[in-house]
Amino acid sequence: MNPLRSLILAAAGNDAIRKLVATTPISRDVVRRFVAGETTAEAITVTRTLVDSGLTVTLDYLGEDTTDAELAEQTVQAYLKLLDRLHAENLAERAEVSVKLSAVGQLLDETLALNNASRICAAAEQAGTTVTLDMEDHTTTDSTLRILDELRRTWPWTGAVLQSYLHRTLDDCARLAGSGSRVRLCKGAYAEPEQVAFADKHEIDVGYVRCANALLAGDGYPMFATHDPRLVEILSERAKWHDRKPGSFEFQMLYGIRPDEQLRLAGEGHTVRVYVPYGEQWYGYLMRRLAERPANMAFFLRALASRS
Ligand SMILES: Cc1cc2nc3c(=O)[nH]c(=O)nc-3n(C[C@H](O)[C@H](O)[C@H](O)COP(=O)(O)OP(=O)(O)OC[C@H]3O[C@@H](n4cnc5c(N)ncnc54)[C@H](O)[C@@H]3O)c2cc1C
Repeated sequence: MNPLRSLILAAAGNDAIRKLVATTPISRDVVRRFVAGETTAEAITVTRTLVDSGLTVTLDYLGEDTTDAELAEQTVQAYLKLLDRLHAENLAERAEVSVKLSAVGQLLDETLALNNASRICAAAEQAGTTVTLDMEDHTTTDSTLRILDELRRTWPWTGAVLQSYLHRTLDDCARLAGSGSRVRLCKGAYAEPEQVAFADKHEIDVGYVRCANALLAGDGYPMFATHDPRLVEILSERAKWHDRKPGSFEFQMLYGIRPDEQLRLAGEGHTVRVYVPYGEQWYGYLMRRLAERPANMAFFLRALASRS
């Protein structure tokens, strides 16, 4: 992995840096570029704007690695409130939710995470929308896929996420490419050891295309999460090759990243879903976004230095 990226991801776990970032005024502007806001109301406002411009949305209530059952419960309550609002505002048809299992208790107890995720799925069903389980670092992959299998018994629309940087992912794609299966394919955002993941960008990209082929050849609903212009072009070609019409797969991008491209793809008739994070716990998410793009990080560090 790129040493700057490793350094930034390491900084994500450092308390002193966390305090500096959280209390520096410039941070707010950088945060706002990538995060909808801290409240449900702000998340709904951003969702409305995106939906009105022809996009669809998946909302993420920020938080992860919870080791406190009370905090896990607060996260569940935040999702229940959000789903209620999506329904009340007639947004549920075009906006779903993304859930990190580590935010609802996975690190404490897998059964607790399954029960909490089940409550969110039941509320999503009532609201008229769906849930996708985000994928976190490789130590959680097996547990997340076990919980996914359980949830799909009752809510077959529950979405999975697979990461092309992991060696195992082509096999997981083959297993999850069946009818009705919603699978988001991304490159992967965590610092992973070479025993389990490719470090080389080219290998990750080749892996992505192989996995995309497996998903497109299957009967499921692939969700291609990438901002990479080369991959978007290849995916559009491969989709035609597999006789996939727009609407039988979708593109996904993060809020604040390549917004013009999001609109261009939607204008071509593709379903484009924007991943919209919100909530007070934006720090880990922001650090992963900055680690992906050193140009953003340089800007951010200069701004921090000039204020300290
Ligand atoms: C909707 C969505 C959901 C995701 N969910 C997960 C998840 O559950 N688990 C997980 O591990 N990861 C997740 N990710 C993150 C993902 O794994 C990657 O870390 C992230 O998307 C960066 O990879 P990339 O494919 O966009 O391309 P990169 O390899 O980062 O970049 C390739 C090219 O894309 C373009 N590009 C990238 N970023 C920008 C930018 N900021 N501005 C302009 N151009 C840019 C540039 O041309 C760049 O050269 C998700 C990503 C998306 C979009």
